[in-house]
Amino acid sequence: MRQIGLAGIIILIISVIVSGATYLGESSFIWNPGDPGFIYSFILTLGFLVAVGAGIYGAIKEMNEFLIAAGTACIALALVNKLFSNVLYSWSYLDIFFLVAGFMMILDSFHVKRIKEAKKLEETKSDEPQTEKLLEKLDKLESETEPTETETTEEGEIFHVKRQLWSEARKKPELLKGLRDRLYSSAIVQDIVGRFINSNLESIEPIMVRSETPSYPVLSDLKGYSQRKIQYTLNELVESGILNEDLYEKLVACPQCHQSAKVFTRSKCPECESHKVKINRLMQHLDCGAIYKQSEYQTVSGIICPKCGKKIEEDLELKSVGISFECQSCNSIFSEPLRSYYCRGCSDEFQLKNCDLLDIHSFTLNQDIRAEAKEKLTVLTIADSLKKIQYSVDTPGYLKGKTGVNHEFTLTANKKDKLLALDLVASSETVDTKTVLSSYAKFTDNISATSLLIAMPMLHQEARDFLKANNIQFIEGENMYEITDNVIKILEKTN
Ligand SMILES: [Zn+2]
Ligand SMILES: [Zn+2]
Ligand SMILES: [Zn+2]
Repeated sequence: MRQIGLAGIIILIISVIVSGATYLGESSFIWNPGDPGFIYSFILTLGFLVAVGAGIYGAIKEMNEFLIAAGTACIALALVNKLFSNVLYSWSYLDIFFLVAGFMMILDSFHVKRIKEAKKLEETKSDEPQTEKLLEKLDKLESETEPTETETTEEGEIFHVKRQLWSEARKKPELLKGLRDRLYSSAIVQDIVGRFINSNLESIEPIMVRSETPSYPVLSDLKGYSQRKIQYTLNELVESGILNEDLYEKLVACPQCHQSAKVFTRSKCPECESHKVKINRLMQHLDCGAIYKQSEYQTVSGIICPKCGKKIEEDLELKSVGISFECQSCNSIFSEPLRSYYCRGCSDEFQLKNCDLLDIHSFTLNQDIRAEAKEKLTVLTIADSLKKIQYSVDTPGYLKGKTGVNHEFTLTANKKDKLLALDLVASSETVDTKTVLSSYAKFTDNISATSLLIAMPMLHQEARDFLKANNIQFIEGENMYEITDNVIKILEKTN
């Protein structure tokens, strides 16, 4: 709400009321619709009232457009009234108030405009550098931390910076993509995502062992990472959209410490509430009809009916007829024990209705991202292999062509005088000629490097013919390891 603008309007309202009252009070006001002066003055008065309305709206909503329009109208009307005082009914000295009110509204409108612009600028300002700053901070933190130390920082600064970035990324697809690229470059992510892509893993399912986090049998051979680290990575992969999570089970967790690892179910005696309850299976000896507990048939000399004393040779001679529970503290026998949960962590005993339910998830690869993940992992696998044979690698890499244009390639690598420019193109079916054309153009502008095109999963016949005719080397395939082997072979040949 704008006080100055509002003050202008209040002045205006008071002026209109005072002048009206003066006219009426002096009984000089005559209803004379036939007089043109009366009509003009009437229209003018209406104009003032509209200006008042617009000004109030502008001041309340802080809209400079309304304030400026109302202020201008107010001044214009006052001037018109003054200039044509020979035909119009005079407002006499009140004119000056109209002018002041109008100027106040206009002045205020500029102020409102400036405030608005400043606000907008701040919003856009605080938006960009915030993300930039966070990314910079993450770079710094990650370069400082030794890989072995990442465990300790899981809930430290890196964790918090990342969490902020993930929440920012929900609104910014570009940022999300950038964060995914970061993830792909981590060894554990390459291993996990690679399983979906290379080994046709369908789903990562949890098992609950007595620990704080679930474990995943299909990842049990993932060596060198703690269960926490694996869980943390899976969560990040879900955040990034690379994996989908599905609810697998709900676990009963303690309402006090919110852990499920140390929660045990208890069956208790309805008489003395002891949890030392054992279960008895009641068996009937079909020959004589006697019913005893299973344990009562067991003797040192075999299974013998306590009633008829006959030795029981086959299981079929005994029939299960029910169960009963027995309290080992007070010896009561009952059919239904009391049920409760007990947390060994904080010794809290609770009922199901009071428990926390914890979700555990299974994970599958997001099929929309399969192609992207495959491309990224393939490029990273090639890069790793090249680094192992002492190449220095850039992904993406830039090389200047004969024409002076700086071309971007999926990967460039060099070792001494050897230079490789590699482009990877992928398609859901076959890679067509149009797709390989831009790589072709770059390669032919860059004859100093060994050029290599990788097409996933394969080239269209026409594209294949085109590349052959133009002497561009290419590799087709789907398996990242096979592709990598072929890249190395081609490099060795160009020795
Ligand atoms: Zn607890
Ligand atoms: Zn018997
Ligand atoms: Zn008992």
